[in-house]
Amino acid sequence: MKLLQELSSELNKLFLFELSDQRRVEVVFYRGDTLCISTQVGCAIGCPFCLSGSLGLLRNLTLEEILDQYRLLKDKLCIKRVAMAGIGEPLMNWERVKEAFWYFKSMGLKVSFYTTGHPTKNLTELLKLPHNGISISLHATEESKRKRLLPHAGTLEELIKTLKEELYYLPQRKKKRISLAYLLLKGINDSPEDLTKLARLAKELEVGITLLRYNSTVGDYQDVGDFEYEKAFLLLRSYGIRVTLSTRFRRDKLGGCGTLLVNRKLIGC
Ligand code: SF4
Repeated sequence: MKLLQELSSELNKLFLFELSDQRRVEVVFYRGDTLCISTQVGCAIGCPFCLSGSLGLLRNLTLEEILDQYRLLKDKLCIKRVAMAGIGEPLMNWERVKEAFWYFKSMGLKVSFYTTGHPTKNLTELLKLPHNGISISLHATEESKRKRLLPHAGTLEELIKTLKEELYYLPQRKKKRISLAYLLLKGINDSPEDLTKLARLAKELEVGITLLRYNSTVGDYQDVGDFEYEKAFLLLRSYGIRVTLSTRFRRDKLGGCGTLLVNRKLIGC
């Protein structure tokens, strides 16, 4: 595996890696301390608001390929945290992701995850690891709507059932590191009714909400705009829920959420 190209914006650094079969994956360094790495070449979940999965799943990354994303960059960046949040669904390459997790922990790194929660049997294991944060992509509180936004992520019913069963046994300090990720899409999932259902679910599960804004460089959906975003934040807060907001790092057109590509061609800096 080799580093082919490095691109920088004001906020993020994006690294393009070529694998031994000439496929390419991407990695982002953001927030000045966090390396967001990929776990698969492509993704089977097929979220229509994300470019990373637009070719479907081409293959899983090997353990060495997951680790090399860190090992090939560690001497040039000040990496304190690894986020398994790049291309791919970590729970669908779970045995290797789990081994990579323990390696990163042994290097003294904090490790966090972004996941759809599918398959739920692997989510059950993930929840028990000494992680530093898990965001579980919900994006909708109705089965049919979530199916449109995360077509191959299992059912909402099963996800919620698993969360209720597993979180029941988790101590409060561990629940504080778990949140439901909710990407606000104008006219799709941003009504007061949608947000009230989301707030009630988070309250019942005793977890936070990561309220994401749409990165309009990615596709055909519409961002809600500042005013509606702040209103949604206040509505969720009125239920006493911990709400994390999207930062500009996540919305940057270079390396922001949903912008990572599989097999990108070299581009001019
Ligand atoms: S948002 Fe995540 S789960 Fe959905 S297609 Fe993109 S990489 Fe896969």
